[in-house]
Amino acid sequence: MNKISLVIQCDIAHNRCSGYLCNDAFYNGEGMFTDESKNTRYMSFTCGGCCGKSVAAKLEHVGKRLRKDPDINKEDVTIYLASCMTTDNHHYDRCPHIDLIKGIIRKHGFENVIEGTSISKRAEGKRESGEYKKY
Ligand code: SF4
Ligand code: SF4
Repeated sequence: MNKISLVIQCDIAHNRCSGYLCNDAFYNGEGMFTDESKNTRYMSFTCGGCCGKSVAAKLEHVGKRLRKDPDINKEDVTIYLASCMTTDNHHYDRCPHIDLIKGIIRKHGFENVIEGTSISKRAEGKRESGEYKKY
């Protein structure tokens, strides 16, 4: 496998979510996942809790492993910020620390960042109708 799709979940959401729907969307090529799952490794971890600074240590660890792997580098990694982090949804509004987290990701040399993962049709409908905010 020479690519990685790395999902960062909201740590608060992770207390009650296994990440099942994100994983499902990845393998079905749905939601924001357009990459073929073939030849792509799926990884996920949480932001570590507010304000998301733990992402730095976790990405450092990923970078360290990549340096030891001749077949893959940072350009081959796409980081997905999970929908629970990036949208207004049933549980809460968009993470207020998104820009900080994105800055940490860039600082660690990862350029490919996509907002969103699995997309709930119901929540998307509420965003369209104005009940939930759109970003
Ligand atoms: S920093 Fe954002 S994504 Fe992380 S736990 Fe807090 S609200 Fe959730
Ligand atoms: S987007 Fe949904 S399925 Fe994915 S980690 Fe967040 S709460 Fe879980």
